[in-house]
Amino acid sequence: MSDLTLILLCAGESNRFKLPLKKQWLRIGHDPLWLFVTNRLKAGGFFQKIIITAHNDEVAFMRHYCDECIVAGGENRQASLRHALEQVQSDYVMVSDVARACVDEALIKRLIERKGEADVIVPALGAVDTITYRDQTIERAEVFRLQTPQLSKTAMLRQALQSDTIYTDESSAIVAAGGTRLLIEGDEAAHKITFASDLHNIPCLKAPSSATLSGNGFDVHAFEEGRYMVLCGVTIDVPFGFKAHSDGDVAIHALIDALLGAAGLGDIGMLFPDTDPRYKDIDSTKLLHVTIQKLRHFGFEPTNVDLTLIAQTPRLQNYKDAMRTRMAELLGIDKGRVNIKATTTEQLGFIGRKEGIAVLASASLNYFDWTQE
Ligand code: MG
Repeated sequence: MSDLTLILLCAGESNRFKLPLKKQWLRIGHDPLWLFVTNRLKAGGFFQKIIITAHNDEVAFMRHYCDECIVAGGENRQASLRHALEQVQSDYVMVSDVARACVDEALIKRLIERKGEADVIVPALGAVDTITYRDQTIERAEVFRLQTPQLSKTAMLRQALQSDTIYTDESSAIVAAGGTRLLIEGDEAAHKITFASDLHNIPCLKAPSSATLSGNGFDVHAFEEGRYMVLCGVTIDVPFGFKAHSDGDVAIHALIDALLGAAGLGDIGMLFPDTDPRYKDIDSTKLLHVTIQKLRHFGFEPTNVDLTLIAQTPRLQNYKDAMRTRMAELLGIDKGRVNIKATTTEQLGFIGRKEGIAVLASASLNYFDWTQE
């Protein structure tokens, strides 16, 4: 069995990326980038174990996609790496960054062939341009750009990362701790995604799937005296509202479930537990706003929504246009992509007895198309 573990660092904030989504959630076909990279690196069968670091808020959603060992990262790359190293049992560890999306098997093999020849083996590229440093031209034959993945002795890397100094790669930490570094031929194709413009220079990436994802949602709330009524973020002029932990906007609650359903992100109760005092009497448009931000962060774009409001009372026909306007604004889509229907139950059941109302919602999403950027 291999004595090598792969750690793939995917817990970054994408601060320099400047698109509505985080780069680890760019879609390559259907797969998020982090899964695409994992599968590429896994294909050669070189690793006894693969550990993926994730942002704390993303661990649960990442586990939805694969069975690899996903561990919560830390406040920076080095802290994330320390967490991941706790799960490593092998003598050697290879560390790569999700941004280095197109590392190929030949580079992995070159690293493995040299394993043990130094404390860390590093792919490196020379400089082709003239290089100056503080106005002095320096000998470019002695300048190297260090890439990932790097292959380290696990014990040495653990020891090197005890330091409080922040290093941008493992080899700098190992050398600072007195270890040895061996440079091998890097790979120009293993370019790193830092800015959105880099996406067009990464050869192995393919466009996101144009598939539409759909979800549905359903919610009911009973009427309660002494509260105000708001539906789809629009105040309804009646002397009662809904019994609820939040403001009771049953239409927005059903819609949030439809959106989360389409994305595979669970349900409203998981995102905003009704036992949490932060959500007491909260304006549900704020919950929708957070939901939309989350969807965008994970690489989804809402395309259209359709709501059916089922109420014997109040009469909602005259509010439908205002609701469409408000929903379009909250979702960041054209009003033409928002449909609102109102119906009764012909006086049947709890709705017919005017005890409360129900809402059915459906929503569809597309993957964010980064090829257009
Ligand atoms: Mg509700």
